[in-house]
Formats: sequence, structure tokens, C-alpha cells
Amino acid sequence: MNNPKLALRDLNVLWHPCTQMKDHETFPIIPIKKGQGVWLEDFDGNRYLDAISSWWVNLFGHANPYINAALKDQLDTLEHVIFAGFSHESAIKLAEKLVEVAPEGLVRCFYADNGSAAVEVAIKMSFHYWRNLNQSTGQPQKTKFITLENSYHGETLGALAVGNVPLYKETYALLLMDVITVPGPDCYCREAGESWADYSARRFELMENTLKDHADTVCAVIVEPLVQCAGNMRMYDPVYLKMLRKACDKYNVHLIADEIAVGFGRTGTLFACEQAAITPDFMCLSKGLTGGYLPLSAVLTTDKIYQAFYDDYQKLTAFLHSHSYTGNALACRAALATLDIFQQQDIIASNKTLAMMMRKMAARFQDHPHVAEVRQTGMIVAIELVKNKHTKEPYAWQERRGLRVYQYALSKGVLLRPLGNVIYFMPPYVINEAELTLMFEVAWQGMQIAVKD
Ligand SMILES: *Cc1c(COP(=O)(O)O)cnc(C)c1O
Repeated sequence: MNNPKLALRDLNVLWHPCTQMKDHETFPIIPIKKGQGVWLEDFDGNRYLDAISSWWVNLFGHANPYINAALKDQLDTLEHVIFAGFSHESAIKLAEKLVEVAPEGLVRCFYADNGSAAVEVAIKMSFHYWRNLNQSTGQPQKTKFITLENSYHGETLGALAVGNVPLYKETYALLLMDVITVPGPDCYCREAGESWADYSARRFELMENTLKDHADTVCAVIVEPLVQCAGNMRMYDPVYLKMLRKACDKYNVHLIADEIAVGFGRTGTLFACEQAAITPDFMCLSKGLTGGYLPLSAVLTTDKIYQAFYDDYQKLTAFLHSHSYTGNALACRAALATLDIFQQQDIIASNKTLAMMMRKMAARFQDHPHVAEVRQTGMIVAIELVKNKHTKEPYAWQERRGLRVYQYALSKGVLLRPLGNVIYFMPPYVINEAELTLMFEVAWQGMQIAVKD
């Protein structure tokens, strides 16, 4: 047993996220002593390969020497300062840098301190923009948001409302604002022989029709570009984003790109939107932003949006949203160091090589009798386990087959954390070929156990 004393103390006082705590009567919690690169180490010296980047946040490994050094320097200079009326160098540099690398036209940066908060900010800004505009133009009132089926945007009430994963949402339904939900472009559902691009384009018709019918009352469409990560790593083609950008312009509706999970190189480009060559009206960033070190998020937006808030105080058009830790100096410095590494080491190029290796290693899963699909976008590979390969009939969720993979992998020193019956890999970008091989081999063995009886 893994340091039973510490584990016991944990279970005495802690309440862990996204966890039925009763599960820990059977599965021990694992206190981690230290991390190094892609490896985590517990108090008994067991090591775990962090194949999911500690919930998709870690990009360049644990205890990264470059980020550590930057943080130590920041710590001795300024840890935090109120961000209204005051500013600091790391926040300014980071905003300049983000504006420089983001899709053209995103020129303003608003900080918050986690992904859900960034989504709240984008939703409120979009809604508020139309109100500010209405003061002068008397346009019809826009109050609604359009979201995609199977989407995920966080857990606070606004973010939960624009998300669509029933497991997280249904319990709180009575607390949530009404949204318009449109069937998505998820290519898992395409016809045999149909290409991702054809299917995604065909599915856009549903969005186009919804926009046509509701644009007058809609503030924005919110999407996760290319990969619906929490929605079982379902993927779609960039053509959908291209069509969405055009339609949002045509119908005078904002486009919010939630790149919280897919940003910072995860899909093969620095931002997923680049693959569709589009600029959203709002881009939400978090997770990989600080390389997995500290909570920070940013909403990037256009000058057009910014100008709708910029006026004499008495007009009451200002965006009066704040978080105590807005623009935290340590977090901004970690983010700056993270962006440095992207530049200094041409990470986008080296990720292409890693992604290719992952494609080769994942190929063997395709023919397995209980695998319906192996899919990949850049540095994300997902394997969909099903009861029946031909009908795609899923396993009953109550069977928790993904959990068997999780437990088996842990016993072999790999941290995988399947979403339902989808095994996925989202490793830090510093993983090497041998570690990738181990990760896929352990998943392969775990899968054999998961599909038994
Ligand atoms: C994780 C995630 C969020 C929420 O971010 P938190 O920091 O966990 O609040 C929002 N959107 C997407 C796409 C995410 O993956």
C-alpha cells in the first residue's frame, strides 16, 4: 500500500474533484512526492508516466528547469499585485506575446484565473457587447448562446450551461440559463467511407439553420475547436470552423473559441483555429498556458469588442468583472517561460514527429474486435472501446470498463485516465519514443483486461 498514513490523512479531510469519494474505500488515493519530466513518483518510490499531462495542463514536464528558474526569479521580484489601477511587467509581456502569436485581429487580453472563469468572461463580454451596442442602435435584444452537443466548457454555472455533457450538467439543470444546443460535427458518427471533411461540412447545415432562425436573439456561438476533449475526445474537421466563422459574420453573431484544452500545440498548430485560418471574436486560453504550473486564463478579443466598452465612466459601459488573482505575477511568468520554450525549441515541429510516432503505435488497436475507432488530432490519440465493433453498440456505463484500464495501467506505472470507455493519450511534449512505447503497450494490455467477460 502506498504510504497508508498520508493517504488516510487525505481521506479524513479532503474532497477530491470529479470523484465519488466512496470509490476510495476500494481504490487507494495516491499521494505524489515529486515529479520530474513525464514522471511522477509516490512515497514508496513507484513511478507513473503522466500520459494525460496531469489533466491536460502539463506541456514541458514536471519540474522543468527553465520554468523553475523563471519562477524563482519572479518570486524574488513580485509575487502578486492588485490588477486594477496597477500592472506589472510579466502581465504586460505575456499579453504582448499572446497578441503576437494569436490569430490576427485578437489584440486585447483579459486575464482570469481558471478555464471556467475565462468562459464566464467571454460569455459576459459577448452579452454585454450587444447591450452596450443596443444603447445607441436599438438593435433587437440578444441574450442567448448557441452550443454544440457533447461540448464541455467548465463547471461554474455559466460555463456548465453552455456545455452539454449530461453527466456533469443534468443535476444542476434547474440552475442553468437556457441555451440553444445544436447537433455537432463529431466525426465518430459519420457514415462508413465518408471523410471527416465531408461529414463535418454536411453537419454544418444544422448550425446554419439554427443561426438563420435565431440570430436575432443570439449573442454568440461557443465551440471547442477541432476536439471535444471532455466529451470523450470526439474530433471534427477544420472545415466546420471555416463555415462557422462565415455564418457568424453573415448573421451578426459572435464566435467564442474555447481553446482551453486544445491551445498551445495540442492539435498540431499553436492554436486549433489556425487550421481553419479563422479569427474568433473571443479566444479562451488556460490549461497549457502556464505549462501546467499555475492557474491562469486569458480571454483574447478584438479591438471592435474592446471599443464597445470604451467610453466615459458615466455611460456605464465598462466591463466590471474581476477576480482577486487576476494577472497573478507568478502565473504570468510561468506562461512567459512556457511560450519561450515554444519559440526556442520549435515545439510545433518536434510535436509533428511525436504525433507521427503515436499514429504508428496506435495503429494496432484499430483491428481489435472491441475497438470502434482510433482517432487522432496532433498530440491527442483516442481509442473508442465498444461492445460491438460493427454496430458501435457501447458498453453499459455502469460496467466502468475504462476504470479497469486505469487501474491496470497504474499497476504498470502509467497514468491513463479513460473518459468512460475511451482510452486516450495526451502526453507532455517532452515524452520520448521509449516512453511512448511503454504508454501504448500498457494501454494495449489494459484494454485486453477491460474487454473481458
Ligand atoms: C478544462 C476545460 C475548461 C475548464 O477549465 P478549468 O480550469 O478546469 O475550469 C473549459 N473548457 C474546456 C474545453 C476545457 O477542457
